[in-house]
Amino acid sequence: MPTGAAAGPSRDCPICPRLVELRLSLRGKHPDWFNAPVPSFGDPNARLVIVGLAPGLNGANRTGRPFTGDYAGDLLYQTLLTLGLAEGRYDARPDDGLVLKDCLITNAVRCLPPANKPLPEEIANCRPFLTGQLDAVPSVRAILALGRVAHESVVRLAGGKMKDYPFAHAAEHELPGGVRLFDSYHCSRYNTNTRRLTEAMFTAVMMAARDHAAS
Ligand code: SF4
Repeated sequence: MPTGAAAGPSRDCPICPRLVELRLSLRGKHPDWFNAPVPSFGDPNARLVIVGLAPGLNGANRTGRPFTGDYAGDLLYQTLLTLGLAEGRYDARPDDGLVLKDCLITNAVRCLPPANKPLPEEIANCRPFLTGQLDAVPSVRAILALGRVAHESVVRLAGGKMKDYPFAHAAEHELPGGVRLFDSYHCSRYNTNTRRLTEAMFTAVMMAARDHAAS
């Protein structure tokens, strides 16, 4: 079993005071919700790791599984099913029996941030847990970063300089150490409603990451 950062934060991780305050407030308002750092989900021997931003209020923070229960998850899991990276049926519940194949999903920040906007120090605080998660998946060959925050956190933990790895949708970067990083706009409702990200764009970048991971 992994230990320390690789094991993930405890349910009561105290490191980010602002996020702890929000967590405690939501535990009072919604005692039946998950309301804790959300663990990764998927295949521990995956060759593709997807890194999101942070749990959503009504998604992972409520259900306890990344991207489960909100719009971003509808698009993400449907795309994974279409591309053979998941098996079963996505029913927006952590007990829906969905299984990821050769793929694991995690977040750059494990706790719900107000307005979906973690502060730079919160992203930095949580990076050791992302590093620990990636170290615990030595089979990884491709990382798909959903949005700039995930991209920058992955580049920093890999020891890269940000100027050498500019974020752009569908960009590909060779990270120090040989893992390839693929960038996508986040699959949020806002990005799809504004057509910044279409389903076709998202499927294409996911397919490129999948094919590289399996090559
Ligand atoms: S965001 Fe990460 S480091 Fe901060 S409190 Fe949550 S689990 Fe701990």
